[in-house]
Amino acid sequence: MARETTDFRGIIIYRRDYRERDLLIKMLTDKIGPAMFYVRDGKKRGFQMASDILPFTHGTYIGSLADDGLSFINTASETHQYHGIAGDLSRNAYATYILSLVDHAFPDNQSIGGWFNQVAAALELINRGQDEQVVTNVIETQLLNVFGVAPTWDRCVICGRADRLLDFSEQYGGMLCKQHWYLDDRRFHLDRRTVYYLQQFARLNLQRVNNIKVNDFTKQRLQLVLDTIYDDQVGLRLKSKRFIQQMHRLEQKMGKLNLDD
Ligand SMILES: [Zn+2]
Repeated sequence: MARETTDFRGIIIYRRDYRERDLLIKMLTDKIGPAMFYVRDGKKRGFQMASDILPFTHGTYIGSLADDGLSFINTASETHQYHGIAGDLSRNAYATYILSLVDHAFPDNQSIGGWFNQVAAALELINRGQDEQVVTNVIETQLLNVFGVAPTWDRCVICGRADRLLDFSEQYGGMLCKQHWYLDDRRFHLDRRTVYYLQQFARLNLQRVNNIKVNDFTKQRLQLVLDTIYDDQVGLRLKSKRFIQQMHRLEQKMGKLNLDD
């Protein structure tokens, strides 16, 4: 088992009790993607790195990374908690879902290229109060490729044209232009704006984004498209996703109650 002591950037994905006083911590790392860390005495009162391993904490750590099995943290050099996420139910729910998605998308202990920076940028935007659903939709759109779905967003999959009205077809794995709509009765019937955002999301570098705003109608459409593709073609059933859906149903109910008052 190869092992090297090195510094790395990490984001806490989740923590799990292990034995009486130890912890297992799943982290997203810049060097070896998702990785499980064994933290001896992590649950002990007064543990030196207690604040470095809280949920929604990110930073630079020094430790030994395993290419197989458990890794270890020796020390943390600089860490911060995303306070704007930890203290807000909705942001917390979306951030948890993003981290869980990424954890499922990539195998443990292997490089994930530019994905660490993209996920860190997503969490930073949510932490600063940018729309958590929209930021999550960008990550969902781009992770489809990692899950092996890789839809063609930017042109008709039959003729390659990008200058006609486009609509999404699951059957054809991408857009169909108006002339080829007849091929799929069950195409999504998307409006132009939703198509535009999906195309943008597919290639957006979140590190270059300061501000991201989408109207409520389009947000609903985008979520519906992504939920449908994830349900039909990725087939993940994540608890964190169900929680978001329950949260929305509750919000709608509360909204109706307020209107009735
Ligand atoms: Zn076409």
